[in-house]
Amino acid sequence: MTIPRAADESTAQASAGYSGPPVAWAGGMDRSGSEVSNVIVIGGGVSGLATAHELLRADPSADVVVLEATDRLGGNVRTLRRDGAIIDLGPDAVLNSRKEAIALCGSLGLGDALIQPEEASRSVLIATDGKLQPLPEGLVFGVPSKLGQLISTPLLSWRGKLRAALDLLLPATEPGSTSVGELIGRRLGTEVKERLVEPLVGAVYAADIDRLDAAVGLPFAAAAKGSLVRAMARAPRGTGSPFRAPANGMSELVDALVRAVGTERIRTGSGVASVRAVDGAWQVALRDGTTLTAPQLVLAVPPHEAAAMVAETDGTLGDALREIGATTTATVILAFPPGTELPQASGVLIPRSEGRPTIAATFVHRKWGRPNPTGAVVIRAFLGGGRNPALIDASDDAELVRLALVDLRAFMELPEPLWTTVARWVRATPHPAPGHHARMQSVRALLAERPGLHVVGAAYEGPGIAGCAAQAARTAAKIAPAKS
Ligand SMILES: Cc1cc2nc3c(=O)[nH]c(=O)nc-3n(C[C@H](O)[C@H](O)[C@H](O)COP(=O)(O)OP(=O)(O)OC[C@H]3O[C@@H](n4cnc5c(N)ncnc54)[C@H](O)[C@@H]3O)c2cc1C
Repeated sequence: MTIPRAADESTAQASAGYSGPPVAWAGGMDRSGSEVSNVIVIGGGVSGLATAHELLRADPSADVVVLEATDRLGGNVRTLRRDGAIIDLGPDAVLNSRKEAIALCGSLGLGDALIQPEEASRSVLIATDGKLQPLPEGLVFGVPSKLGQLISTPLLSWRGKLRAALDLLLPATEPGSTSVGELIGRRLGTEVKERLVEPLVGAVYAADIDRLDAAVGLPFAAAAKGSLVRAMARAPRGTGSPFRAPANGMSELVDALVRAVGTERIRTGSGVASVRAVDGAWQVALRDGTTLTAPQLVLAVPPHEAAAMVAETDGTLGDALREIGATTTATVILAFPPGTELPQASGVLIPRSEGRPTIAATFVHRKWGRPNPTGAVVIRAFLGGGRNPALIDASDDAELVRLALVDLRAFMELPEPLWTTVARWVRATPHPAPGHHARMQSVRALLAERPGLHVVGAAYEGPGIAGCAAQAARTAAKIAPAKS
């Protein structure tokens, strides 16, 4: 099975996760014809590849096989190269504040090559009542760490500002299982919730904040007993942009992972139909009927896929995995003629209260300062998610482009686009409801009764690529002592 190279510098539309040479798998077989390894990793996204990479870092001779259903590696990571410009359709950054993501990049030799957003374009605008307003400085996910940060913002009324100040006076309560929306509304009031926190947290998690677990979306606030403002003031925070990205787009991370793991250990076009415990090992059945066996099995796929794999023989685990929610989003890339004027910012957040399907838009050509030979002005709009779960399935690509254009034109003058691209992310974004940690405890307890079975991915123990990298390292450390 081969993997198409990314057609860089071409005018044709091309996108890729991994963009290196073709992948060919060379595994071992036992006498009965079953393919045998020490570790099987299902899923060739960042989680699966990073787990294999960490295993090989611990033991370069580790017998590990990665199985990927599609003919493309990287999962959600897709970098579009068009007319010399680099545009990420999925994740476009890792968090600098999470040491695991930066450590992963460092272990792959990418540490020095990470870039950060251009200083001049770091500010974010919020669309409110039909106008774009700057987000007040110093907020953490929309939550102030000093009330002074709110005084001059036109995003809140005086009544809203006074209501936010009540946070300092309201009685303390024991942290409990709640949603981001309930927690913020209760402590800081509806305006802070709808105009500051919802647009930020809602965009980062593609979530309906009234259904998003506060312990996942705003862990620092969720753990606070009393004032959120005081809790935020105590929260550690770095200086400068919290984001970093490989200079050539996120597919550079996937390329580096594939090189580190070695193409001989990766098998694409290998969709897994089911997994089952057989004689103290794990047997994996591919959709083409092939079976593979290993004492250690890592499910590095979204929870609903993992649930489907185990459902036939392990309904209990399948049900527990299925309870972890997910949502569907789309990114719409709109390229405009050189010279198209945009507001001075790196992008725009559109709160739910504006009643528009677009959640956010990034001014890609400006954000990272990457080469842009044609000078096209490129906007990446983000639609769907927990706020509007049915939208993406119900709309074809042309409709998504139309909706994004209508929403953006409400706030800026935009000509007809030169070209557009739509990427759909079906159930790709975890949407953990309140009680996520309790659900994860159940999953962990069930896994503890199934030695050798592991789950890794953004839906489980921490979101985003940083969460994937952290779990990959932990899982590899658990498996490494078990190697034969
Ligand atoms: C639009 C968007 C923007 C994002 N932005 C950011 C960001 O800026 N920063 C950040 O940190 N995170 C971001 N994320 C989240 C990030 O992309 C994910 O956390 C991460 O990529 C998940 O990686 P993964 O390997 O766990 O899962 P995936 O990327 O989903 O990979 C799973 C892989 O398993 C394969 N697979 C599925 N079923 C089977 C099967 N039956 N057999 C074999 N293989 C199978 C899939 O084909 C896929 O390749 C974003 C996500 C989206 C959708």
